[in-house]
Amino acid sequence: MANALLASGKRYLKLLVAILLRYLGVYRLERLFLSRSGGLILAFHRVVREGEIGHSLDPQMYVTTSVFRGLLLFLHRHYDVVTLVDLSEKVESKAPRRKPLCALTFDDGYMDNYTNAFAILREMQMPATVFLTAGLIGTTRLLWNDAISIAFASISQSPRAKGQLRRLLSTGEASSTECRHWQRAIEDSSVRSIVEQLKTWPHAKIRALISKLEPYVISAGAQGNTCRMLTWSQVREMRAAGVSFGSHTLSHCILTVEDGQTVRREIQQSKSLIESKLGSPIDTLAYPNGEYNEKTIRIARQAGFRMALTLQKEYVSVRSNPMRLGRFLINQRDVASSAGHFSSALFGYEKSRFLLYTKRLVQGFLRGRSEKRT
Ligand SMILES: [Zn+2]
Repeated sequence: MANALLASGKRYLKLLVAILLRYLGVYRLERLFLSRSGGLILAFHRVVREGEIGHSLDPQMYVTTSVFRGLLLFLHRHYDVVTLVDLSEKVESKAPRRKPLCALTFDDGYMDNYTNAFAILREMQMPATVFLTAGLIGTTRLLWNDAISIAFASISQSPRAKGQLRRLLSTGEASSTECRHWQRAIEDSSVRSIVEQLKTWPHAKIRALISKLEPYVISAGAQGNTCRMLTWSQVREMRAAGVSFGSHTLSHCILTVEDGQTVRREIQQSKSLIESKLGSPIDTLAYPNGEYNEKTIRIARQAGFRMALTLQKEYVSVRSNPMRLGRFLINQRDVASSAGHFSSALFGYEKSRFLLYTKRLVQGFLRGRSEKRT
């Protein structure tokens, strides 16, 4: 109860600051500055209809179709929405522009990119790039984070399943600290924290856990259907209409926790699989969860990728490294009003350069103070 009150208080405060900054013209000034200095890349995952929002759907993973349409209308008025390649070339050319540049990207390759987002993109005549988890496209298999979310959400609703899980975990798959954390997360229905913790596990270990949880994933089968991935024929249809595609690895493993051989396989094989299905080369990559390091950059470059995207909140400028371009993650919780409409004030707040610098300054100051104390 206290947590919920605190969260709604924070949300109101954020909305107030967001509206105040818009009123003061901060966002307009920032757009003017951006039109001279670079561009921005937005990252989406899923675009869902109201009726498709299930309780295991992570609020950071989607926007509704109405918010998506509202955001695109706003971008149409205030930005020049271009492809990733055009954005990079235009930023490089330093040519004067009337509007700032913006590119749209989608990670993972969910089927709703076709069933819900595609029609809106076409209607608005906006280009976009979809990064495919190549090994799952055209299959009925779920992304590992969806399989985990559905299984744990289903377990949290059944006392019998909770007991079964306790026995399952005692077989040694997870450490005792992880087991305690998961038990607590299930009691609090905070499945997201389990997914976050699993992002530090190698993919093979996650798959072993999922195979043990399989009965719970199947029992939530109807919900599983809403997490379906694109088919190759949908990918080809979107491509024929101007949508671009890139790689998001084969299995959506977190590259920074894998060994070199696995990273190479995930990057190279996803590239060749997509190229063989589309019949043309691809040269853009989005690191799963935005996680990268020097090793992943080196392997991606060796595999022939010319551009790779993270999820760091950074603008694209002439100084940007093309193998770690920043993006701004867009989700319902951050850009929609409590009534579920797109809010340009909240959108401005989320990517405000002024707020990003202020936050970094405050964090640097606090870090400096705590270092002095220790
Ligand atoms: Zn992803």
